[in-house]
Amino acid sequence: MTHAPHPETWLKPVPGGLYCVPGDFFIDPTRRADRAIITHGHSDHARADNGAVLATAETIAIMRHRLGERAGASHQTLAYGETITIGEVAVRLVPAGHVLGSAQVVLDWKGSRAVVSGDYKRRLDATCAPFEPVPCDVFVTEATFGLPVFRHPPDGEEIDKLLHALRLYPERCVLVGAYSLGKAQRVLSLIRARGHDAPIYLHGAIATMCGLYEQFGQTFGDVRPWQGVAKDAFKGHIILAPPGVTADLWARKLPDPVVAMASGWMRVKQRAKQRSVELPLVISDHADWDELLRTFDDVGAPEIWVTHGAEEALIRQATLTGRRARALRLVGLGEEEET
Ligand SMILES: [Zn+2]
Ligand SMILES: [Zn+2]
Repeated sequence: MTHAPHPETWLKPVPGGLYCVPGDFFIDPTRRADRAIITHGHSDHARADNGAVLATAETIAIMRHRLGERAGASHQTLAYGETITIGEVAVRLVPAGHVLGSAQVVLDWKGSRAVVSGDYKRRLDATCAPFEPVPCDVFVTEATFGLPVFRHPPDGEEIDKLLHALRLYPERCVLVGAYSLGKAQRVLSLIRARGHDAPIYLHGAIATMCGLYEQFGQTFGDVRPWQGVAKDAFKGHIILAPPGVTADLWARKLPDPVVAMASGWMRVKQRAKQRSVELPLVISDHADWDELLRTFDDVGAPEIWVTHGAEEALIRQATLTGRRARALRLVGLGEEEET
């Protein structure tokens, strides 16, 4: 009979993030690390100035685009499903379904397996590879929407609300706040899937990120930069901008915009009000309550570690269903909002 080491003896939450002892590397370090595996390109996971960085080719391209010279001293790409060995630890990346290039990190050491999922969702998203459940001993999860109140509605219904507003107010335009990495591309692809093929105008930060997605084979139909377009030409059209920009000065350059925002947080009416959002769209790139719990079933892990988010209810629920569960309380995650 062999005894595999428990993952808590070799994968540890320390002040700089989640550290793999036998491999001597961090996953999504929150402080500069000599060796880092990065799950995806959002700023709370992909930070500047690490030494050797390992990630999917897409994530490395996103990091180079966002961080330039500071994207890491050296880069190594790993395709989904490929395995490499780092200090006796077998490392494999599998899709997390969150944004382009997002990966779960599968770690195997001496018969013991931990899966670090980064951020993830279970809804199909045409702009990235779908989440792949991997059986494991410990599943490390986020809990951004780890409360029963968070049940995301079908995406298509939310997009229909947007298209309805567009038809209802032909003299206005719809300004949609969406993160420039992931959410904006997903919203575009959902709008196209709903058959709306008119031009859509993009804020610069979103346009350049769409360009990067296009390098990896995505298409978004007729998208145009909003710059230099006459105010009246926006009437009856959709404009996408990062959330911080929507309330800003350039919103005044638009013809009476219906301000929409695409976020899982739009489920909370107070959040929509705070941001003066007239048309809240509950579209999230994170698993909702049901999806979190379904994922625990799918990976069959007897033990759940929660990195960040609304961990209490999730830990209680995991415990009630016969699992061990603990909060890692990793500081610095869950702050990917753009200002
Ligand atoms: Zn993320
Ligand atoms: Zn995150």
